[in-house]
Amino acid sequence: MTQKKLQIHTENILPIIKKWLYSDKDIFLRELVSNACDALNKLKILREHKEADVKDEEMRVDIILNQEEKTLKIIDTGIGMTAEEVEKYIAQVAFSGAEEFLGKYKTENDKEAIIGHFGLGFYSAYMVSSKVEINTLSYRENAEPVFWSCDGSADYTIEKGTKEARGTEITLFIDKDSEEFLDAAKIKTILNLYCAFLPFPIHFNEEKINDKEPLWLKAPSECTEEEYLDFYQTLYPFEEPPIFWIHLNVDYPFNLKGILYFPKVNKRFDWNQSHIKLFCNRVFVSDNCKDLIPDFLMILKGAIDSPDIPLNVSRSYLQMDKTVRQLSSHVSKKVTDRLQTLYKTEQEKFTSSWKDIETIVKLGCLQDEKFYEKAKEFLIWQNTEGNWTRIEDYLERNEGKHKDKIFYTAEDKGNAGFLNLYKEKNIEVLVANAPIDSALINTLERKHSPAIFQRTDGGIDDAILDKARENTEAHKIADFVKANLGEAQVEVEAKSLHSDNLPAFIVVNEHMRRMRDYMALTGQEIPSQMLGKNTFVVNTNSKLINAIYGMQEKKPLLAKEMIAHVYELSLLSQKELETKQLSSFIERSSKILEEMLLDA
Ligand code: ADP
Ligand code: MG
Repeated sequence: MTQKKLQIHTENILPIIKKWLYSDKDIFLRELVSNACDALNKLKILREHKEADVKDEEMRVDIILNQEEKTLKIIDTGIGMTAEEVEKYIAQVAFSGAEEFLGKYKTENDKEAIIGHFGLGFYSAYMVSSKVEINTLSYRENAEPVFWSCDGSADYTIEKGTKEARGTEITLFIDKDSEEFLDAAKIKTILNLYCAFLPFPIHFNEEKINDKEPLWLKAPSECTEEEYLDFYQTLYPFEEPPIFWIHLNVDYPFNLKGILYFPKVNKRFDWNQSHIKLFCNRVFVSDNCKDLIPDFLMILKGAIDSPDIPLNVSRSYLQMDKTVRQLSSHVSKKVTDRLQTLYKTEQEKFTSSWKDIETIVKLGCLQDEKFYEKAKEFLIWQNTEGNWTRIEDYLERNEGKHKDKIFYTAEDKGNAGFLNLYKEKNIEVLVANAPIDSALINTLERKHSPAIFQRTDGGIDDAILDKARENTEAHKIADFVKANLGEAQVEVEAKSLHSDNLPAFIVVNEHMRRMRDYMALTGQEIPSQMLGKNTFVVNTNSKLINAIYGMQEKKPLLAKEMIAHVYELSLLSQKELETKQLSSFIERSSKILEEMLLDA
């Protein structure tokens, strides 16, 4: 067997880089400005090693657009390159000078992090250029300037150059297909996006691009509330201030800094899009880091900066990457800790922000077992009296009255008549009206087994009955109502409710309703056979029901109308009346009013 080396020819690889390496043309600018910053950073590191002499104010990057000549120049005052270095770093595709440099000069200061990794960034210039020239002068004593030129084929020229000042000037000859990059506004937008937090002054046609410090790099103990709020405005101009934030600062097992903000929840929120901005050593990389943070935290905003995330690689690789998984669980843990502390130390703020954070907490409970274990400590509910409680406390408090049963309503304030049945009996009812609650309740029942959640209109609980006043004719009343209602899909029961004021209500089969809510939440159609039977409960202690029952001989037709009317009124008050039933309901209302007046 003979072993041979795979041959890769630049003629083949360049078109591939040009077409496939980056999905987005814009990033050529990010790559070239990053290289310029790397060159400056290297100079700084050399200064620390006393190998170069340079003042801070001499270090800068300039981007200059010339529309007449159709060129874009990226100029830095960094270390520059000698002819050998150009041959080695530029002409050898995929050879990263950054890696080599770091191998040689270990730096303690992580603020001077080098961005480059892969040795491919420079070639992204060919996504928009028909030709690229380099004019460079190395920082080394007596270095000779170098001029390099290549039109994107495998051939290049290299010769003595004319550059007099230390540093590198890259000239892009923008090609015909990419003339949008000759638009100053476009270039400025790209620079603002990618380069806003770079560590050296960056100027575009003399105007400074980056004037904000990345707050995430500052020690959390040194940041003021005002700075956090201010920084949020920098990242998201025009947005309402966030509720609170978490400053991440991790060294082990990976390097990560960042600030995550809890925004005010916006109804139009797009759950599929993450809004956290990802940076790699201050260079903006992406604002869709879907795989980097758990789904339920997608609502968070802010910035994460880590040199350890393999950013240039494909997304499927990202998901499998160990660092990425660790990062995700770390972020999740930090968020939990913050919420926990907030609940313990600033309960008032916590409850008043609940509307904005409940979706995150509840989604987290559904999606992440570990999160739930901690979140149950601050998963709170408001009862109909307006007090806040946790499920555990509710169960304990009500153990004597109704063991293992949690009453809840999906109503906000409305339907007082019905809830009064519970209120008058001093039964604590929780409000659970967030769209996600149905799903969450299923999970909570498993966690708190044998306790069950019962919606106030999900059953006829003994608690609302008055056994002492049971009507001996109850089954006759029920039969009469059933016969007149003419709704085959509805069961009828006559019960002695402890309050006389409520004539009737509908019991919606709890199991069916949950299924229906779930399907609505996930946007599925509901097959009619799945709707199941509801029960129409009439109150044998209600004057109205008794009056209708008494009318059966004298005015059977009116009695029938009245039953339909009470039925639809119940549907209406429980928000179960369908739109198509509404017109017949209104028609009948007028008819009944008419008859009453004619009778009078
Ligand atoms: P990477 O940045 O990942 O190393 P690039 O293709 O972006 O790969 O750059 C290749 C190498 O070329 C760099 O590592 C660096 O040594 C050299 N280089 C590129 N641009 C400059 C520059 N503006 N000044 C000095 N050296 C540069
Ligand atoms: Mg680079």
